[in-house]
Formats: sequence, C-alpha cells, structure tokens
Amino acid sequence: MSEKRDYYEVLGVSKDASDGDLKKAFRSLARKHHPDKNPDDSESEHLFKEVQEAYAVLSNPDQRRQYDMFGHDSPGGSPFGPGGFEGVNINLDDLFSGGFDSIFSSMFGGGGGRTRTRRGNDILIRHSVTLEEIHDEGEIELDVEIPSECDSCGGSGAKDPDDSKSCSTCGGQGRVTQQARVGPFVQQVVSDCPHCGGEGRVIKNPCSNCRGEGVKPKSQTLKFTIPAGAEDGTRMRMRGMGEPIRGGMSGDLYIQLETEEHPWFERDGSELIMALPLGYPEMILGTAIELPHIDGKAIKIVIPAGSKPSETIIVSGRGMARRRGRGRGDVTVLLKLFVPSKITKNMKQTLETLRDDFGLPVDNIEKSVREEAKSRRN
Ligand SMILES: [Zn+2]
Ligand SMILES: [Zn+2]
Repeated sequence: MSEKRDYYEVLGVSKDASDGDLKKAFRSLARKHHPDKNPDDSESEHLFKEVQEAYAVLSNPDQRRQYDMFGHDSPGGSPFGPGGFEGVNINLDDLFSGGFDSIFSSMFGGGGGRTRTRRGNDILIRHSVTLEEIHDEGEIELDVEIPSECDSCGGSGAKDPDDSKSCSTCGGQGRVTQQARVGPFVQQVVSDCPHCGGEGRVIKNPCSNCRGEGVKPKSQTLKFTIPAGAEDGTRMRMRGMGEPIRGGMSGDLYIQLETEEHPWFERDGSELIMALPLGYPEMILGTAIELPHIDGKAIKIVIPAGSKPSETIIVSGRGMARRRGRGRGDVTVLLKLFVPSKITKNMKQTLETLRDDFGLPVDNIEKSVREEAKSRRN
C-alpha cells in the first residue's frame, strides 16, 4: 500500500480549506522548497514535488472529491498513473509575480471563482469490541442504517433531471453579493443565496421518495479494519461515507471503538493485569494453572513454591499489541490469598493440625514479628 502523505497534511491546511487557502499554502511552500533556492538538495526536491502534486489534485474539484472519498487508494488509481507525478517547471518568478494564476489555471484546469462546496454532516457510529477482537488486526462488517443518496433521484432531489434548474437569483453561483453601508463606507458582502440556500439550483418537482432532500436512510454494510491493540475511543474515518447533501459533497463517517470490559483483565495500554486467588497450600507448594486467554490459546501461569500474596508473576508477550513498535505487552498476575468464608468441621480439624505442625507464629510471636520486619527492610 502507498505510504504517501496526506495531501492536506502536505499543504498544512484543513480538510475544508478554501481554494484561496490552498493557493496561499501552495505558494508559500513552493517558494520555500523551490529547486532554484535549494540547489542539490534532494530533500527539498522531494518536498517540492510533493507540494506540487498535492496542489494539482486538491485544486481540481473532481480530483479533490475523489481524493476525499478514497484517499490515495482511489479506485481509478492515481490521477498521474503508476509512474506518479513528475512535477512541472514552475519558475520562481511566477511564484512571486502575478503570472501565477494564469499558469496554474492553464496547467491544472483549476482557477478561482469556484463556488464553495456544500458538505454533508459527519456521522459517528460507536462500535464496541472485546479484547479478543482487537488482539489481532481484524476485518469487521457492520450493518447500519445511515442517511444515503436517494435511489430514485440519484441524490438530485428532483423527480426528473429537468426539474432541477439553475437558480435565477444567484445565477447558479449559490452566493450573492450585496452592498452594505457601514458608517461612511460601502462594503461588498458575499453571502449564501437566500433563494437556493447556497446550492445554486432550485427544484421544481421534488422527488417523492426523498421529498426533494436527495437523501434517504438506507441499510448499508460497512467493512473496515480494526487495528490490533486499538485503544478505547479510537476513531476511524471513512472519507465521504457520511451524510450526503444535495448538490454538495458527503460528510465523513467515523467509527469509534469502545472496548468492552473483560471478565478478569484490566488493561493499561498494551499491558494486561489480573488477580489470581490461590489457596494457602498452592502458595507454599507451588503449582501451575491454565486459563483460557484472549489469543485463543490457554495461558499457563507457573506459581513457584514459596510464593506470597501480593507478589506478581509476569507472563511476557501475551498482552495487547503495542501501538508503536513491535511486539506485545505482558500479562501481570497478582497473587491473592483465597480465604474461604465458610469451613466445614472437617476442614477446621485439618487446619488445627496444620497450625500445630507449623508451630508459627503462635509459638514465639515476638520473634516472628521481628523477622517479618527484618525481611521487609532487606
Ligand atoms: Zn429522491
Ligand atoms: Zn441561488
């Protein structure tokens, strides 16, 4: 898969950057990394090409939309083919002078004056996962009902394609310019067209299936990959899968992972922590126990003879996947002494015999207390 940087990141702009923002960011970065200013600097050369390519795509409305939906893995492939973007010669002077606009509009077919793109709402879906499900990277299929493009009108909101007309108030621009008087000044104020709501089009006969909205709830199967060891609250973005909007571009869909509580593990990043209750004989004699584990294989915990309550045993490499770097965290087992709340007459007798055999601490309580304190200090 490609490891190309996100185009918005390359230009250092937000996803809803306007044409003007893009141009400003491009000009400043292109100036900074221009080969003429950085001779024989391969790093700058790379950055310069990266910036050129990002701007070429994002300044083209169709390519930008395509990129927003699919990122670098667009089904149509890179707009520049398998060879990638070769770069174009941009004269340093052009980056400073007024010649820039015309050069770019002819090169990339972009140019100013484009109406602002309307964008649908983002959708957030919460999905709970078990530790088992995030032990390894996993594919998840989720059936959801989300606002989608109306099937009957293809999202246009019009009963018939001819029923959607360019708005006469704004001439299809979606925006109107008004003169506003502020004190002694007359200002030009640009705002959304009140007639079409900024869309640039009006619908005469609305589609009956979606009441002209172009949007209808629809069941969809979302397929996505859960990263191994995902933290609670991890959000994954599916570009352009959010709510569509008539005459604009769809929002994004986010899936937020929420990890379910495990019956006995507590999680701390890649570490798993559990408490293990053991009887007195097991502590003294040692034992080995097996427990079902989140990786599907039983986990074996070896308790050495002479273990004490509150000691820990580490089972290394059986925790959660580490987010950065390789490998897994550990499982930490905290030993607890199991004390039965009820005992039978028989048990009581056995314990009394045991007490006599051990002799401690009733024999010489002061000596025991001293020795315990000494062992703690060492
Ligand atoms: Zn419709
Ligand atoms: Zn209008």
